[in-house]
Amino acid sequence: MKRKAISLLSGGLDSVLATKIVLSQGIEVVGLHFTSPFSSKREKERGLQAVRSSEELGIKLIIKEKESDYIDIIKKPRYGYGKNMNPCIDCRIYMLKKTKDIMEEEDAGFVITGEVLGQRPMSQRRDTINIIERESGLAGLILRPLSAMLFPPSMPEKEGIVDRSRLFDITGRSRAIQYELASKFKLSEFGCPGGGCLLTDPIFSRKLKDLFQHDTSFTMDDIVLLSIGRHFRLNEKIKVIVGRNKAENDMLCSLDKDAYSLVLPLGFTGPMALIKGNPDESDLDIIGNIIAYFSKYPNDTIDIEIRDKKTRVFTAKKRLLDLDMIKI
Ligand code: SF4
Repeated sequence: MKRKAISLLSGGLDSVLATKIVLSQGIEVVGLHFTSPFSSKREKERGLQAVRSSEELGIKLIIKEKESDYIDIIKKPRYGYGKNMNPCIDCRIYMLKKTKDIMEEEDAGFVITGEVLGQRPMSQRRDTINIIERESGLAGLILRPLSAMLFPPSMPEKEGIVDRSRLFDITGRSRAIQYELASKFKLSEFGCPGGGCLLTDPIFSRKLKDLFQHDTSFTMDDIVLLSIGRHFRLNEKIKVIVGRNKAENDMLCSLDKDAYSLVLPLGFTGPMALIKGNPDESDLDIIGNIIAYFSKYPNDTIDIEIRDKKTRVFTAKKRLLDLDMIKI
């Protein structure tokens, strides 16, 4: 077996520490960081954190985007969802399968993860860790330096490439030992744990579920839009996204492609909106009223400009709407 490993480097404390523990045994390590459209703003920053962490560790970093096949997994996870739309077991299997490919490309012998037994309710239990390892095709080739002593020895330990006596037996959610170790190894480049995946967020999950239910031919733009603006489902065919600030209005404008119609307030200051679907007059009437509601527009009629294949103006009659009924 090669004295070279691929380390799943999120940029968080556990993955950085796991990498350092193996590096300290004189083993070559290449970092691998996954990004996805389901990474929160904080997680995207953590992407940069992974770059900084790899620089501090002095290792090469490969950044890989989860591809469209990842969407199929979220739609129908074999091992189900966690509390929200997070298919953590399937997601870990997906990432490790991709890691296996990188391992071959990089001619590495094994994989390092920052997993800690019992730290996460779904993907870091002993039974699920075993399923993930088996399904990924990496049985025996995954080293978890932080909890290794709680598992049977992995191949690199059996073959004497990794010194098992210098690995750890950490369990549970407290990170006290990890912080101590980080200070011992003089590590400073790591992010705060948790909170990086939008699939664990209940509001985002609701919007994603709605998308899966109503749109069979959605695109990556539709996924990106899930974290922008207020979302309203008018009916089976029409969804409206309303900007909450200038930055979001600008983003909605930039996504104004063939699949959407852009709506602008005409003659008053208010949010912009993006429509998915072909709205009829009654839909436009509701959309005009939604825009007027968020701009506190006082007049009885509301003019909006709709830009799709052609630009047109629609006048909506002001009326009271129960937004909670249509809010996603
Ligand atoms: S929290 Fe998100 S990124 Fe992490 S394993 Fe679960 S689904 Fe995957």
